[in-house]
Amino acid sequence: MKEQLDELINTVVKNDYCIGCGICASIEGSPLAMKLDENGKYKPLMNIKDCMDEINIDFLSICPFSSHSINESELGKKLFDDYEGISFNEYTGYYLKNYAGYVKEGDFRKKGSSGGVGNWIASKLLQENLVDGIIHVKPANQKDEVLFKYQISCDNDELSKGAKSKYYPVEMSQVLKFVKENEGRYALIGIPCFIKGVRLLAEQDEIIRERIKFCIGLVCGHLKSDMFAKSIGWQLGIEPKYLKGIDFRKKLENRLASDYGVEVIGEKDGKEVILNSPTRHLYTTNWGHGLFKYNACEFCDDVLAETADITVGDAWLPEYTKDSMGTNVIIVRNPVIQQIIENNKNKLWIDEISVEKVYQSQAGGFRHRREGLAYRLYLKDQNNEWRPPKRVKSNNNLPSKRKRIYEERTKLSQESFKAFKAAEQVNNFQVFIDYMDPMIKKYNKLSAPSIVRRVLSKIKREILRRIGR
Ligand SMILES: Cc1cc2nc3c(=O)[nH]c(=O)nc-3n(C[C@H](O)[C@H](O)[C@H](O)COP(=O)(O)OP(=O)(O)OC[C@H]3O[C@@H](n4cnc5c(N)ncnc54)[C@H](O)[C@@H]3O)c2cc1C
Repeated sequence: MKEQLDELINTVVKNDYCIGCGICASIEGSPLAMKLDENGKYKPLMNIKDCMDEINIDFLSICPFSSHSINESELGKKLFDDYEGISFNEYTGYYLKNYAGYVKEGDFRKKGSSGGVGNWIASKLLQENLVDGIIHVKPANQKDEVLFKYQISCDNDELSKGAKSKYYPVEMSQVLKFVKENEGRYALIGIPCFIKGVRLLAEQDEIIRERIKFCIGLVCGHLKSDMFAKSIGWQLGIEPKYLKGIDFRKKLENRLASDYGVEVIGEKDGKEVILNSPTRHLYTTNWGHGLFKYNACEFCDDVLAETADITVGDAWLPEYTKDSMGTNVIIVRNPVIQQIIENNKNKLWIDEISVEKVYQSQAGGFRHRREGLAYRLYLKDQNNEWRPPKRVKSNNNLPSKRKRIYEERTKLSQESFKAFKAAEQVNNFQVFIDYMDPMIKKYNKLSAPSIVRRVLSKIKREILRRIGR
């Protein structure tokens, strides 16, 4: 076990490919403990007090980014390939049916980030007595050093307190320990790599396999360090140490669903305040810039949580984004979940959609995580650096402009951590802007569509508008 652990630390952790999921620290007797690092990302730290003589779990095969774990397609095959009517696509993974839709009953949609299907399906699993608890991310206690953490909800009231997306570092070591120690049937909500990690653990750990009955996946662009939340609060006037809460997805009436806002709670000039802003007015919220992104996300090719029983995301398609209340894209892989949807169609508004539409709803994410990843892998291989094995093959065969876009994106995320620390040192957010601005301007210029493409897409939009789509 000692050799495996050393290899895990020397490859995944030391080279910054760790997503901080906490699976390795969840194992009984593990010498690892999850801690936030200086960049506000969870990392496993060696906790020498513990002893690991008794551990019989292979650390390398449970880590979603190690070179010994099986990939999402292999896991998907084991999980879903036997289901009647199942299909496979290289972007969606296995699927029974795909939908765009939202919840009509209760306030799931109002309280949710998107169409509310994420928490609704969790509540149905509870209501139909298929599980006893939902493992998901909720606001932490005031005494915690973080704003959000994984917790377990056993009824709708509890569940609704955890609605909405947390673009924030979370880890599962404590909650998985709880599952191991407390008999019950659970459903787990998580981003793709976290679910992959739980599936890998379940391959080896019978108790986890028995108790975690369902996984609900969230589509994922990338995960953010805690600097993302702090930077938003700071821009609205709350210094990082006084930020007490954040809503990353405040719906704005009469705007496109993609044009949402944020709300922060904290102390400003000695008084508790609640402040909000559309994200378009903020400096750090352009997802394309990838500020404060975990490096692991640059080396992940699973956008749609391919190992989850159902995946929910945002239907970022023009026909749905015009509704500011939000619409989900939904990929169903498990027949039990499919049946729940069939039985409750009157409680939902849903459109069955093709895999092509699912792809289009996340086209930018796929480009970055397939074409862009191939190029990032190529760069690592050229430098003879260790990197995790991926389904995507290393490739240098891209137009030079695309290569520069990917290179500049990597630089933006890496430099954003340094810039934020420099700003914190002098307690002045303007230092962050001055540091990042030349790089952001260069990137914006490079990635702006050419005049010809701009004119063509304007014509396309106008045609679609006239034919009413
Ligand atoms: C880091 C991150 C990146 C994302 N990137 C994309 C993207 O690129 N494209 C896209 O279409 N969608 C993305 N999503 C998903 C999207 O933001 C919504 O979460 C999704 O559409 C579900 O909306 P809903 O209204 O159905 O969910 P809700 O009904 O609001 O339920 C969401 C559920 O997810 C849980 N949850 C929230 N955040 C986390 C978390 N970090 N880890 C585990 N559980 C969590 C909540 O506790 C809640 O139970 C991302 C989500 C996250 C967390």
